[in-house]
Amino acid sequence: MSSPERVYSYSAVLMGSPILLKLFEDNPQAASAVFRLIKQLEDLLTVNREHSQLMAVNHAAGQQPVVVSRPVFELIRRAKTVSLMENSCFNLTIGPLVKRWKIGFRGDAVPPQAEIQSLLPLTRPEQVILDPQTCAVFLTQVGMEIDLGAIAKGYIADRVRDLLLQMDIHHALINLGGNVLTLGAPQHGHQTAWGIGLQKPFAAPDALIGTIEVAGKSVVTSGVYERYFERDGKLYHHILDPKTGYPLDNELLSVTVISDDSIDGDIYTTLLYGMGVEKSLRYLTTVPHIEAIFVTRTGQVILSSQRQFRFTLQDNDYHLV
Ligand code: ADP
Ligand code: MG
Ligand code: MG
Repeated sequence: MSSPERVYSYSAVLMGSPILLKLFEDNPQAASAVFRLIKQLEDLLTVNREHSQLMAVNHAAGQQPVVVSRPVFELIRRAKTVSLMENSCFNLTIGPLVKRWKIGFRGDAVPPQAEIQSLLPLTRPEQVILDPQTCAVFLTQVGMEIDLGAIAKGYIADRVRDLLLQMDIHHALINLGGNVLTLGAPQHGHQTAWGIGLQKPFAAPDALIGTIEVAGKSVVTSGVYERYFERDGKLYHHILDPKTGYPLDNELLSVTVISDDSIDGDIYTTLLYGMGVEKSLRYLTTVPHIEAIFVTRTGQVILSSQRQFRFTLQDNDYHLV
């Protein structure tokens, strides 16, 4: 029998990110099953390779509907619903702009304004036609592309949780590169919460602004420092404003969402990013199961309500307001 005090860490590189799984038992079979599941789901959902269920839909844009599996269909349906919410900056059809900017990929450059303008008409979520009977997805215009980059990791993290629970594992942490999902509390002595680092923007990867303590919650962070490039002193990051076609430009460096399900965390980081601090704080009073931490360019750390987490500041360059 392994001691419950010990942490067993398993890692892999999947979805272009380092993936970390922490368990309290020596269980390489469980870790392999988790990594296998992540790989299977990545294979369905990626747009960074030539072939996936999603790429089949994109390749058939303007031609014909493509039948996808039920889970992929439901994920697209959810992404479409969120995209159509009032004032949503989440847009599942942002693909053509993401591909053109190539932010975080080789060959990134600021595209000519005229080109960005010409791609905007290809990013209309209402032109994703869904048939729930057959799970068929049709993009009505040639050149349209669905991109689930802002939601896929959250969805996958939740499926990993399902799998761990099926394997009777109730205390674990999975980190999908920015998306952390915890099951229960850690089994270290008397610890009742996991400590999850809030990364310091544009610093060493292990430099932290502070620590977020949670148990059984998802913690998702989206930050401008994750994927970006700089040209002529200006920073271009990977969350695009569907209205302009340019990276979202506001006071934020990162948004962290604490929630039960990681898919909500992934969706809301993007939504709140687009709203900015003021609107987000007002909006969050209407969605009590979602809580957030905002980090601004001027070094402020702003917290919403804190029923589901505790935050401890550790870095002098930042201050709580
Ligand atoms: P990651 O954790 O991989 O950085 P995020 O959840 O932060 O992903 O979402 C960013 C990704 O979402 C981008 O890399 C891109 O693929 C996609 N994306 C960019 N802008 C938008 C948008 N306005 N709506 C939906 N998806 C977007
Ligand atoms: Mg992210
Ligand atoms: Mg997201």
